[in-house]
Amino acid sequence: MKLKIRTGFGYDVHQLQEGLDFWLGGIKIPHTHGALGHSDADVLIHVICDALLGAANMRDIGFHFSDKDPKYKGIDSKILLKEVVHLLAREGYEIGNIDSTVCLQEPKVNPHIPAMKTCLAEVMGIPEEDISIKATTTEQLGFVGKKEGVAAFATVLISKE
Ligand SMILES: [Zn+2]
Repeated sequence: MKLKIRTGFGYDVHQLQEGLDFWLGGIKIPHTHGALGHSDADVLIHVICDALLGAANMRDIGFHFSDKDPKYKGIDSKILLKEVVHLLAREGYEIGNIDSTVCLQEPKVNPHIPAMKTCLAEVMGIPEEDISIKATTTEQLGFVGKKEGVAAFATVLISKE
């Protein structure tokens, strides 16, 4: 049987606002500011969802979980990610690996990466070694550098027999 391998890509941005909880990679990061959004605004989970859906050619996160739907107001993005993994599994897809980058000026993301990997591996039911999370600042440039927002990118590989 021929193995079908596909790649997917995701990009997302959220504004940062003072006093909000800052959810990133499924965990709460201690910080003065948090990301603004209809859901919990977890930008890393959102790009992983979009990359997975894109790889399967199943539209995007906004198509499946509308930000106009009160059902998703303040929702834990881990629930959305779990649902995306189920949608792909229903089509016979398995996740190969995920590579991602979070762009944030502050706070430092690196110390939180091990906990994010543990959390996301559990949510998706895949080994931690198949999840890569990287972090970068933008050297004070642009909306990320000016601490106005957080951005993230992810690529994934999925396959089915
Ligand atoms: Zn988002």
